[in-house]
Amino acid sequence: MLGADSKVRIFDTTLRDGEQTPGVSITPEQKVEIAIKLDELGIDAIEAGFPVVSHGETVAIKNITKQGLKAEICGLARAVKSDLDAAIKVEYAKKHGVQVEFSAEDATRSDRAFLNEVFTAVANVGVDRLDIPDTVGYATPQYIEQLVKDIKAITRLPISMHCHDDFGLAVANSISGINAGADCAHVTINGLGERAGNASLEEFVMALQCLYGRKHNVKTELLYETSVFVSNTMGIIVQPNKAIIGENAFGHESGIHTHGIINNPLTYEPISPELVGRKRWMQAGKHAGAHGIKAMLESFGITPTEKELYDIVEKQKNLADKGKSITTAELLSITGDVMHNNKFEEKFKLYDFHIVTGMNIIPTAVVRLHTEGKDYIASEIGVGPVDAALKAIQKIAGEMANIKIREYRLDSITGGSDALAEVSVKVQDKNGNVVSARNAGEDVVVASVQAMMDAINKVMLQKVFYSKN
Ligand code: MN
Repeated sequence: MLGADSKVRIFDTTLRDGEQTPGVSITPEQKVEIAIKLDELGIDAIEAGFPVVSHGETVAIKNITKQGLKAEICGLARAVKSDLDAAIKVEYAKKHGVQVEFSAEDATRSDRAFLNEVFTAVANVGVDRLDIPDTVGYATPQYIEQLVKDIKAITRLPISMHCHDDFGLAVANSISGINAGADCAHVTINGLGERAGNASLEEFVMALQCLYGRKHNVKTELLYETSVFVSNTMGIIVQPNKAIIGENAFGHESGIHTHGIINNPLTYEPISPELVGRKRWMQAGKHAGAHGIKAMLESFGITPTEKELYDIVEKQKNLADKGKSITTAELLSITGDVMHNNKFEEKFKLYDFHIVTGMNIIPTAVVRLHTEGKDYIASEIGVGPVDAALKAIQKIAGEMANIKIREYRLDSITGGSDALAEVSVKVQDKNGNVVSARNAGEDVVVASVQAMMDAINKVMLQKVFYSKN
């Protein structure tokens, strides 16, 4: 295979294709932050944007080139003088000489003879690289294979693949191109991009490495962290079942699966979660079996008898049958009931809270919590009702639990003004342990408060059990 031992060049276009995702609007400063993250990840080339579109875009690209990044920085330009002038205004390009990658828009739907003519002509005038874009994701892996072989044979230039995901084939098409002799793939973090998006960087890199044994410069253990950062910055949520980076990609609930995983992770995990910077997690619920629940409890140092374990499993299944998702705090509370041990109880109980909010008024929250036989009341103001409520809770519980919020995420599950809101919070304790909790409900503030309480109680429970061990 042509160049099968050479490293595949990873060209990230999150800041250009990804930024064109409907609903995304980021500042020049955020673009710079993302570029720095991409560089840390080990990306070979970053497409920083499209200089001619706006002043802000030019400023962002200019600032990215000033960061001293290892990655090569590129800007998109149409083949017109004004675009090229805008692109070469960037100082880095001037200093280092401009490299040109010629891209033939909609190459995969173009007449083959004409496409060959165009690529031959630009190769003859000295472009450095060619790009084959599957602009509307219309190609098949077989078509790409032949196309790349033909163009490589005619031009002998390095080739990049740029695949869109309209039929869910972007990653497969990119890999097909690489196997046929392309040297580079344009990819985006989380598969962001217009319509169905572009080839996902995470999926492409991991498939390339694990399934095809190809090398690259990406530090795979940073993939998840980078994905979360881009998702938060661009405000586009990753679907839970997305390969590699989705929340559920290394989560297990089914009894058969958790049993298999406990005996040998390879049974139901194709790669170890640590390879992409993740951790395996197990979920209690109606599909969970005794082995999974036992393993979850053991991670807290809890070893119920066989009879107790049976009762715990049954109780949590009954609760799950009522449509409730079983959080770790809930599982431990059930365990406490069954084992008659109050150590498992929630450390903080929410008595009540109320919020005042509106226009021309400072959002204020008053919260009453009960812990260790006493009531504690706190009030706080915030930028909005959720902020005020979470601050008030932290005022009471934060000191005892020594935690801070690392991430707060609000998703609407259904449409309409009565949509079900899902809140996920991640809190970090002083030892750097991160726990997450979720809650769903029609009231955004209530769901947020309950998720926060759950997270705090989880931290406290872990403290009790880990300090014991
Ligand atoms: Mn594109």
